[in-house]
Amino acid sequence: MIAAGVDVGSTATKAILVDDNHRIVARSLINTGANVTKAAERVFAEVVKKAGIEEHDVLQVVGTGYGRYKVTFGHAQVTEISCHARGAAFLFPRTRIILDIGGQDTKAIRIKPGGDVEDFCMNDKCAAGTGRFLEAAANTMGIPLDDIGPLSLQYRQVIKVTNVCTVFVESEILAHLARGRAPADILRGVHLAIAGRSVALMRRVGMEPEITLTGGVSRNIGIVKALEEKLAQKLNVGADAQFIGAIGAAIFALDRCHAVGVAGGAHVAVDRRD
Ligand code: ADP
Repeated sequence: MIAAGVDVGSTATKAILVDDNHRIVARSLINTGANVTKAAERVFAEVVKKAGIEEHDVLQVVGTGYGRYKVTFGHAQVTEISCHARGAAFLFPRTRIILDIGGQDTKAIRIKPGGDVEDFCMNDKCAAGTGRFLEAAANTMGIPLDDIGPLSLQYRQVIKVTNVCTVFVESEILAHLARGRAPADILRGVHLAIAGRSVALMRRVGMEPEITLTGGVSRNIGIVKALEEKLAQKLNVGADAQFIGAIGAAIFALDRCHAVGVAGGAHVAVDRRD
C-alpha cells in the first residue's frame, strides 16, 4: 500500500511516498515556479518514477502547503500547520514546538504528544526573516545560498544587522561591505537577526522542549547554530527537515487508505484552519 503527500510551497514543491509500514519509499523536490498546478503534477510524476511504480499504484494523495488546492489529483487537502505537526511528531515523537522557516513565511507551532496542534502563530505579512530574506542577503553579497550558513560561522566580530526586511537588507549589507567589513561578520549578523525574530515567534506559542526545525531554511547550518545558541538548547534537525510537511501529508494519506478503504477516492477538503 503506497500513499503520497504533496507539499506545494511558495518556493519549493515537495512529494513523499510512504508504504503501509510508514517507511519513506521516495522523495522529490522541485522549484514551484509560476505554474503551481504543473509543479504539483511534475513533482508527483517524479516521485512515482523514483519509486519505480505507476501513478495509479498510489492509493491516496493528500495535498498541503499554500498551493494544496492546486493538487488537482489529490484526494484531500490538509493545512501545512497540521502536516508539519504530524510529520515532526512522526520523526521526533517528543516534539512540542515546531519552527518552520520556509521560503516566504515562518511559523511557530505548539503540539500535543502525538502531533495534534495546540496553538500556532505565523509571520507571513511579508518575507522578513524568511528564506527569501536569506536569498536576498546571499545575492547582495554574491555568495551562493548553500555557502552563507557555513561562512557565517567563520565570523570574528559580529556585525549587528538591524533589518530583516528583504527590501532594506541590501542597502544595509552594501553599506557594511563599503566600510570594509568581512562578509562572514556581516552574515553572522544576518543569521542572528533571523534567529532572534524566530525565537520571538516561538515565545508567542510558549517555549517547551523538544523543538523541531522544519522548512528549507533548516538546511542552513548558520541558522541552526544561531538558534541553538539563542535558545541554549539543541534542536531536532533531520536530513528530511524540508520534507516534514510532505511527510505529514503522506501519513494523513495513509490514514485515509485505512479509513476509506484502499479503493476510496472521494475528494474532500479537511482542516481549513489557515
Ligand atoms: P516553502 O514551503 O515556503 O516553499 P521551503 O520550506 O521548501 O519553502 O523552503 C524554501 C527555502 O529554503 C528557500 O527560500 C531557500 O531560502 C531555503 N533553502 C533551501 N535550500 C537551502 C540551503 N541549502 N541553504 C540555505 N537555505 C536553503
